[in-house]
Amino acid sequence: MDLEKTLLRKVGEAIERFNMIRDGDRVAVALSGGKDSATLLEALLLLEKRAPIDFSVCAFTVEQGKFLSPIAPIGDYLKQRGIPWTYYTDAPSLNLLEEQPGHGCDVCSRFRRRAVYDVAARLGVNVIAFGHTADDFCEALFRNTMFTGKLSALPPVTTSRNGDYRLIRPLVFVNEQVTTAYAQSKGIPVVPCGCSQKTGTVRRSLRDLFAELEREYPYLKENILSAMGNVDTSRLLDPRFLGVEPEAPAAGLFPIVTEV
Ligand code: SF4
Repeated sequence: MDLEKTLLRKVGEAIERFNMIRDGDRVAVALSGGKDSATLLEALLLLEKRAPIDFSVCAFTVEQGKFLSPIAPIGDYLKQRGIPWTYYTDAPSLNLLEEQPGHGCDVCSRFRRRAVYDVAARLGVNVIAFGHTADDFCEALFRNTMFTGKLSALPPVTTSRNGDYRLIRPLVFVNEQVTTAYAQSKGIPVVPCGCSQKTGTVRRSLRDLFAELEREYPYLKENILSAMGNVDTSRLLDPRFLGVEPEAPAAGLFPIVTEV
């Protein structure tokens, strides 16, 4: 398998299908320190040279105090390659970590989102690219279905609340076998986040479940992704798509049960 070819084909397919990148865009890749966003950066740099449209690519990393080791190797690697990279230490996130070390993902990601928009404003970009993979989309679909009572995953493309930025996830069709192999083949340094080592989380349980099922059904995630792009609303329970008027608000008919 030609890894780079596979990667670019799948990233190109996502960009085209969801109109993610347009002529004149200035794209900033949110580098998390992991293999996925690093692979995304490499893919977009290659496409920047080859694509028939004009767009620019840079990268940034938000420091929230959660890296397991210093981020310097990533900076050195990018500098050697001449890739513009901004390292942004987010003081409010560091204070949060000190004051509430046990804070959850909701507050952490809220702080990160604000920091990401701060950096994007400084960089003068109009598109922010995130490294969520096909695996993340599949896990999000199951997590949302099981715990929020809503059939949804992640938006492949959307805009920030104030409309200033297009937010894109061009790795939607790329699985983590590809990002792992690609990052290794290129010798891209990876600096893990402490949270990636956590056990006993829903995310970890879903990962283990998928891994077990995929031993028997290797194309499981491809099928789940296809299903997300091929919704048969007549076989779900949302009256808005069934041409019927509910007698009572749908939310009241099916209360969400989060604990059993
Ligand atoms: S996994 Fe860790 S870094 Fe990610 S949102 Fe949750 S607390 Fe923040």
